[in-house]
Amino acid sequence: GAPAADASTVAGLARKKLMGYVGFANLPNQVHRKSVRKGFSFTAMVVGESGLGKSTLINTLFNTTLYPRKQVAPPHQERPKTVAIESISADIDENGVRLRLNVVDTPGFGDFVNNDESWKPVVDNIESRFDAYLEQENRVNRTKMQDNRVHACIYFVQPTGHSLRPIDIEFMRRLHQKVNLIPVIAKSDTLTDEEIVAFKQRILNDIAYHNIEIFHAPIYENEDEETMLEIQEISAKVPFAVVGSNTEIDTPDGRRVRGRAYPWGVIEVDNEEHCDFVKLRQMLIHTHMEELKEHTNNVLYEKYRSEKLTAMGVTQDHSVFKEVNPAAKMAEERSLHEARLRKMENEMKLVFQQKVAEKEAKLKQSEEELYARHREMRDALEKQRLELEDKRRRLESGRPLTPEKVSQATKKKGFSLRN
Ligand code: GDP
Repeated sequence: GAPAADASTVAGLARKKLMGYVGFANLPNQVHRKSVRKGFSFTAMVVGESGLGKSTLINTLFNTTLYPRKQVAPPHQERPKTVAIESISADIDENGVRLRLNVVDTPGFGDFVNNDESWKPVVDNIESRFDAYLEQENRVNRTKMQDNRVHACIYFVQPTGHSLRPIDIEFMRRLHQKVNLIPVIAKSDTLTDEEIVAFKQRILNDIAYHNIEIFHAPIYENEDEETMLEIQEISAKVPFAVVGSNTEIDTPDGRRVRGRAYPWGVIEVDNEEHCDFVKLRQMLIHTHMEELKEHTNNVLYEKYRSEKLTAMGVTQDHSVFKEVNPAAKMAEERSLHEARLRKMENEMKLVFQQKVAEKEAKLKQSEEELYARHREMRDALEKQRLELEDKRRRLESGRPLTPEKVSQATKKKGFSLRN
């Protein structure tokens, strides 16, 4: 039957081995150590009308068929009448680095005659994930925190070439303070380059006009030049014009690429001149994965949490029995404060340990390099010595030369006398 509205169903858990390059094995070093040990976990949500290429893009992103899901419902079968939330997880593996990837899909979004409240199940889902986290934080034993919060929401904009539609704006307005919004232009191969440039500008104008906040990578002052450039290149492409495909095709010049074939040519998914797919992937699972998680935790979740606590205080004040207990409230606030301090302290400890470990690794590496250089020099000298000795022996055992010949030969080619 039809999936219940707003139900979180785990549709499948699979262990996948990646065939090609994804990128999270190359996360910047400072976050690498901790994460390599624990493995990464990342939750992405995809939103957009059906047929915009959400499943295809997710599969393209992670280079895996994570998404066998939808069997298309036969026409006589009734389609769900509300937005359903589905989530699937997979452990994917790249060079021994583990990533637990959760993808939250929202089939049904925008697919109805009346889409006025399409955003609501999505908001509910995001908030219930916040609640689950909050509940864990309030537990006495907080050693095994499970973070199922949504770290990024990829919102698929129809490739109309016009501007955002009311449903897009409504969705983003309702969601932008609860999740990192990453707008993408779906199926951008259906637009020309010029259309994409103009469309992007109109989308950005709409977003600015409605005071919608989309995810922007923070730029830190002490960033190295290469990283700076990478960040700038990524943010210049927002909203990413993406093309998804999981089939490999042959280009006219004989390469095998992931792409889409047209009578007039081939669109290559992994070619930055053809679309922004590479930049989106870079942002999600390389350059900004940690920032997306941090912003979710430090800003979006924090805002939700403090609003929730305030609301609880307010309802207390207005309750029929006026059961406000200032002492209890203070105690609660203090314990929250203490929890925050503990959390901060732990984080600082972790960072410190990480830094020490990094330094150690670096020192160890330079030590090894020195040894290697030493060995190389010693071997080279030894080789030279043997060669010289060999030449000397040949000279001594060879036919006697006249003194002039010897001096001529040695002048010309060192000791190597071949005839
Ligand atoms: P979903 O319903 O949003 O998950 O969409 P699907 O991923 O199932 O894709 C719907 C259809 O669009 C399929 O036939 C895909 O092959 C096609 N499709 C997916 N991505 C693209 C794209 O980037 N460009 C074009 N032209 N078609 C695409």
